Amino acid sequence: MRGFTTSIVHSDRLDPVEHGSLHKPIHATVAYGYEDVQDLADVFQGRSGGYSYGRQVNPTISALETKINRMEAGVATVCFGTGMAAIGTLLFALLRQGDHFVSSSFLFGNTNSLFLSFAAHGVDVTFVDATSADAVASAVKPNTKLVFVETIANPRTQVTDLVGIGALCRNKGLVYVVDNTMTSPYLFQPVDVEASLVVNSLTKYIGGHGNALGGAVTETGKFDWRSFDNIYETYRKGDAAKWALTQVRKKGLRDFGPTLGPEAAHHLGIGAETLALRMERQCENARALTTFLAAHDRVSRVYYPGLPDHPQHGRTEALFRHPGALFSFELAADVEPFDFLNRLEVVIKSSNLGDNRTLAIPVAHTIYYEMGPERRASMGIADSLIRISTGIEDEEDLMADFAQALNA
Ligand SMILES: *Cc1c(COP(=O)(O)O)cnc(C)c1O
Repeated sequence: MRGFTTSIVHSDRLDPVEHGSLHKPIHATVAYGYEDVQDLADVFQGRSGGYSYGRQVNPTISALETKINRMEAGVATVCFGTGMAAIGTLLFALLRQGDHFVSSSFLFGNTNSLFLSFAAHGVDVTFVDATSADAVASAVKPNTKLVFVETIANPRTQVTDLVGIGALCRNKGLVYVVDNTMTSPYLFQPVDVEASLVVNSLTKYIGGHGNALGGAVTETGKFDWRSFDNIYETYRKGDAAKWALTQVRKKGLRDFGPTLGPEAAHHLGIGAETLALRMERQCENARALTTFLAAHDRVSRVYYPGLPDHPQHGRTEALFRHPGALFSFELAADVEPFDFLNRLEVVIKSSNLGDNRTLAIPVAHTIYYEMGPERRASMGIADSLIRISTGIEDEEDLMADFAQALNA
């Protein structure tokens, strides 16, 4: 196996590419025609690997799936139109009414909202502090099927007990789903902690340029689906390490239709080529800024797993290549957060993360507004909390921008 970046950059050439194109072409087609109708029948009956219909398969998207699969060292990957589509479709395809799952309470806001909708449809969820595997263990019930966690939580940067929960899930036969968006497969591969399935929002670090939405679910091959009774009889065929993703592709992607478009897949695949280079720079910018802010007298708290006083600093050092490119902080009481944000000149006020540009947002007033003050407090989100997603700008320019905005 070659290095991380070599493997991604040469991924599209694994299969012969039309006319020697260095990039997998954008296949703008909905359907696929066959000379002999028997070939068409074979595709639909699973006897040939040909393409059936654009809602579930497309060569440009297959190439991206191969790329993501190599990045995550998985056995199979399915792509979706967004990260939320990946999470929603995964749970829709694998859980049924009366099932229960345990989730980290430190979650991406829309994922939190989605899980509450699942509860309303009869799939029950318990939210726990996933920085401790014991908290997860105490929430497990006889009907628990699955555990869902993120690696580093946004915006307060709590780091999940990824190893402990992996061991717990293995002992109890639970499906272990890890949302790797905040770390990306360059900083961390969840297969190393026994994850069964890995979710990535391709919109963030993997695509990296804030120009296309996408999501992916990767099967790691660590879970034996023969013991999982929600897999339909039709999909209990062939390699049992891939049954779940077959069901996700058929009952989820095909029947539900949250399909990624081929143009977006092309953008995401090009972006992915530079993941390692961008991450090195973005994490270095986060390190420099948090060191500066932590020592500044107009800043009261800084949350970044790279700082020695972060509660999960040791775990971060042990698991991740770098502590990530996202941090949050609270200003001293005499600094008005909106005024501070409006003084920033290089940094953009925006809701996204994982872009090449450094982005800032006051979270309680925006992305976590809808969940209300009580749930925000339980997630450790203060009204004055500001989240920063560092980009690839030159470090001196970012440092100068924060300095002028703080000292004004
Ligand atoms: C952004 C994000 C998602 C959702 O991804 P979209 O592509 O925006 O739908 C899911 N999980 C995490 C951790 C995210 O940051």
